[in-house]
Amino acid sequence: MTLEDHCGDVIGKARRSAGVSIESAARAANLSVREFDDLEQTGRASKQPDFKGLGNLLQLHGVKLQQVAEGWLPQPIDLSRWQSLRQITTSGSNFTVNAYMVWDAVTRETALFDTGFSAEPIFSLIEEEHLQPSHLFITHSHHDHIEALGPIRRRFPEIRLHSSSNGAPSDQRNQTGQIIRVGGMSVSNRPTPGHAEDGVTYLINGFPGGVPSVAVVGDAIFAGSIGGARELADLAKRAIREHIFSLPAETLICPGHGPVTTVSEETAHNPFFV
Ligand SMILES: [Zn+2]
Repeated sequence: MTLEDHCGDVIGKARRSAGVSIESAARAANLSVREFDDLEQTGRASKQPDFKGLGNLLQLHGVKLQQVAEGWLPQPIDLSRWQSLRQITTSGSNFTVNAYMVWDAVTRETALFDTGFSAEPIFSLIEEEHLQPSHLFITHSHHDHIEALGPIRRRFPEIRLHSSSNGAPSDQRNQTGQIIRVGGMSVSNRPTPGHAEDGVTYLINGFPGGVPSVAVVGDAIFAGSIGGARELADLAKRAIREHIFSLPAETLICPGHGPVTTVSEETAHNPFFV
């Protein structure tokens, strides 16, 4: 398991959002400009940075940042506890993206969450498990998340799309308080803009076996980081606090990149939250 963002990525995102120069950040970290640049590029430093001083300057939690630098990972989660949930990871030019699928074990009614780069693994799973896809929920319209939309809609023309994009036809646009049934489960939406204007988190309740609810968050939050949001980082963090961290601690967080995590892991360890 590796995090989507190493500590240098976290520092770079926070530094650009705060509009801080490399020189100022290097000074706060008690590093030379070259040492600091290395840290941002690789996540490693040849000498111990002052994470507390750097965190204070960049609105990062110094101790949590140091833990990420020292190899923190969320506790591994056995996804087979959610018997009818799958993470589908596909590769683009030089990175991977996660899509998710959820179905009702009895009726086989199925919801897709994003498409990833390729429809093939989705089609294979649908055939293996005899699934009936009826809904496709889009977390945000960045290309890596919707690349396989065309082939999926051609194969399943009846599939109902859901998105928060202003460009979406009104019958596909998420409404506040809307609840979509997927067999015995229900899917509601929560606005989590910042990384993307149409960023939305889908909360899935009602899994059999009493396992925790699942939040499919797109790129709003990653294990130990957040999706790049530049000058909208404050908006992004506010939405995460309001609409993700307010969920029960055991809620499973399914991000668009990197490993799955939980609300309790991120409130305790995500350096963007001080
Ligand atoms: Zn994105």
